[in-house]
Amino acid sequence: MSEIGTKSNPLRVAVIGAGPTGFYTAEHLFKQKEYVVEVDMFDRLPTPYGLVRYGVAPDHQKIKSVTAVYDRIAQNPGFRFFGNVQIGKDITASDLCQYYHQIVYTTGAQTDRQMNIPGEDLAGSLPATEFVAWYNGHPDFRDYDVDLSHENVAVVGVGNVAMDVARILCRTPEELATTDIADYALEKLRHSQVKNVYILGRRGPAQAAFTTPEIKELGEMADTDAYVEPDEAELDALSEAALAVSSDRATMKKVEVIQSYAGRPSSGKTRRLILRFLVSPVELFGDDTGQVVAMRMVKNKLYKTDSGTLRPKATDSFEEIPVGLVFRAIGYRGVPIPGVPFYDSWGVILNREGRVIDPETQAPITGQYTGGWIKRGPSGVIGTNKPDALETVQNMLADVAAGEILQPQHPTRAAAADFIAAKQPDYFSYDDWLKLDAIEVARGKAQGRPRVKFTSVPEMLTAVGKK
Ligand code: NAP
Repeated sequence: MSEIGTKSNPLRVAVIGAGPTGFYTAEHLFKQKEYVVEVDMFDRLPTPYGLVRYGVAPDHQKIKSVTAVYDRIAQNPGFRFFGNVQIGKDITASDLCQYYHQIVYTTGAQTDRQMNIPGEDLAGSLPATEFVAWYNGHPDFRDYDVDLSHENVAVVGVGNVAMDVARILCRTPEELATTDIADYALEKLRHSQVKNVYILGRRGPAQAAFTTPEIKELGEMADTDAYVEPDEAELDALSEAALAVSSDRATMKKVEVIQSYAGRPSSGKTRRLILRFLVSPVELFGDDTGQVVAMRMVKNKLYKTDSGTLRPKATDSFEEIPVGLVFRAIGYRGVPIPGVPFYDSWGVILNREGRVIDPETQAPITGQYTGGWIKRGPSGVIGTNKPDALETVQNMLADVAAGEILQPQHPTRAAAADFIAAKQPDYFSYDDWLKLDAIEVARGKAQGRPRVKFTSVPEMLTAVGKK
């Protein structure tokens, strides 16, 4: 076999999933100097950027501007994009082994975690992940049915996703009208009857997972007052002691902002965001149509585990609040890919530092890798995926050096392109995406918005002249 990674015989890599980690993986591969690398990136949607397009909140455009970096990576002559191609449906994982030396799965975490409480399946009890995908114009969720005629809404969890959901529910149509929120979502939110949004943390203010800018933002909304129950804003003795030892300035700042909302009188704004701490939902109650109408919560107190973490423990004190909608924002979860080993209890691909592991032998599977949320779980900010991708790429390169790579029968760009086109003639190239992007941006310009998104795959295909 001739040497791999040369101009005449490049290292051919398939990256599955065009989110941030997919792009950082390509970037690290292109940056190293030892091997000539070609990257083909696949996504089941025609559009790239994953959660940056379909997860980051539309009122956080600054965060979305990271796509300029991905655009630059895509300009590398070794890069190609095959959007609208689903691995496991249009092409199998084993098909890829015929065309690539290495395959990297960077598919993120596409579903949600459950609360596992009675009533969770009632109408109106929904995963935040779907609501987020809906307002961001994800083609799978444009027909999602969310009834915003209810006055009281609960958001379970105090992470940044909970913050995003609460903010979008509470923003005025004018605040949203300058964003790239999906048109249908803007229209529905215009008629929203939502008045009170409860954000429910099972632990105390010092353990909240959201970050300081996000909690600050809740206090700066045009027509919504932020409020915290004064006794729940206070730190318990265990949290006080832990904070004194750690001197964690970020947490101190966060607690300070939370406490600034404690007992705040209403300023007459239409909506109210009510942050609650040390409460856990234990049951949702429905009416006779199966629609959620109330939530029962238990009051918690914190205890210290053997490892020193502060965990919630239920007391015997309960409370009921009327709610017509409940969003659980308690974490994303990865979805298995047919033919790729999955570690179900963590919701990740079974891997060791990015090398996919055979569940039987516990040995790395030649040529298979993973990165990002599907590798380590749904944690960290977008930038966290850059070092994560680097770890995987370093292991990939070490395996190339050791000759531990796949032996594809057709290791050429042309053969792969022919195969993909035969399996999915409607694939989207990066040029197709750039065309679509320009149309979206032009449509947005006319309305003073960053873009107006296409939200259905057939519309995307037509827009770029594919159908
Ligand atoms: P997260 O940060 O892990 O927060 C999950 C929240 O759910 C935590 O408050 C957790 O409480 C709570 N929770 C978990 N299980 C629960 C249960 N059974 N009952 C009640 N509460 C429960 O997850 P996320 O909000 O989905 O965010 C995922 C990642 O994306 C995070 O790293 C986040 O920072 C990032 N993100 C960033 C931004 C941004 O930068 N603006 C925006 C969105 C997301 P415990 O702490 O007690 O477990």
